[in-house]
Amino acid sequence: MGITSHSKLNIRKNLIISPDITTPLTTLHRSVYPGHFFVASWRASLNRLNSLHFINTHPSTSQPMKTKLSLLLLLSICTFAQTVQKPRYVIVIHGGAGNITPQRFSPEKQAEYELNLNNALLEGEKVLASGGDATDAVIAAVRYLEECPLFNAGRGAVFNADGRNELDASIMDGKTGKAGAVAGVSIIKSPVMAARMVMDSSGHVMLAGRGAEEFAMKHRLEMVNPDYFYTGESWQEYLKVKQNRENEGRKGTVGAVALDIHGNLAAATSTGGMVYKKYGRIGDSPVIGAGTYASNLSCAVSCTGHGEFFIRNAVAYDVSARMLYLGETVEAATEFIINQKLKSQGAAGGLIALDKDGNISMPFNTPGMFRGYIKSGEMPKVLMFR
Ligand code: ASP
Repeated sequence: MGITSHSKLNIRKNLIISPDITTPLTTLHRSVYPGHFFVASWRASLNRLNSLHFINTHPSTSQPMKTKLSLLLLLSICTFAQTVQKPRYVIVIHGGAGNITPQRFSPEKQAEYELNLNNALLEGEKVLASGGDATDAVIAAVRYLEECPLFNAGRGAVFNADGRNELDASIMDGKTGKAGAVAGVSIIKSPVMAARMVMDSSGHVMLAGRGAEEFAMKHRLEMVNPDYFYTGESWQEYLKVKQNRENEGRKGTVGAVALDIHGNLAAATSTGGMVYKKYGRIGDSPVIGAGTYASNLSCAVSCTGHGEFFIRNAVAYDVSARMLYLGETVEAATEFIINQKLKSQGAAGGLIALDKDGNISMPFNTPGMFRGYIKSGEMPKVLMFR
């Protein structure tokens, strides 16, 4: 059997399928997607085997050559398995959970979401691939999503009952255990950057309202007119809810979790909160332990959903606690919390979680959740529906 028939890269849906190892996959992959040593080395191994396979089919092939071939094959398989098991870095993002179904999004709109989720992943990956910190990576991904009007964070945030945008964000560094958050801010362009500033330079964990804005101004973060956050879509959603019509729940909070090449975890979350929320209401997103949590000992978590339930259940911390105290995997802990505990309380939502070994979990109990991830050496994966 020829080597080429084993070489299909079966990558899902929106990703590239390479039918033949002779396809210049490395070039293609690198140009779309820099920093990927893995595909290059894997292809090199296969190419090497390909040529050896040719030698092996020759009638004059000797026994020592066969032994050498077997060893090389074994080596290649081991290298391959090792790379798959231990990614050097990982980034996972979400763009909110809600009533996200294929019927509610035109193919063009789906493509727009996929493109922007993909871009956000690449922003985070750029940091990780160059050896940067997990905290910088989650900031890069979340900032991208804050600037994208498709999501309920930064520009595009939902409106509160008074017809204004009040934004919340937080970040946690799993290495130091430090955290920062801002709540109820209306003129800071990037709430997640302000959260980081609080973590790095305030000596506090959370600043709210005017105090947070003055702090951000003093630290030269970019301020905007409140109109900056306005989008027609969010305004229409506000009007519908105001007229007692059902909230369609198509827009979502954004978040990211990352594992860097130094083994550090971080998590960040940013949101406009719940549409038509009371003036002054603060949800789970800026609450450390509820909407965001990270510890190098266990995992990094960013949540989305009905914030009051996520606060009452200390959801993000609960994932870490179950892992540490019960010895559960990230998958088991998050599945239990989202699909049993929260579901039994009628709480809608989901989360993204990443453990210290690079294992990912992205459960949700809503019809859909915007989500995606990149593991080092792999193509990005972006999903919206079940
Ligand atoms: N969790 C956010 C909040 O309650 C909303 C969301 O994730 O959609 O503010």
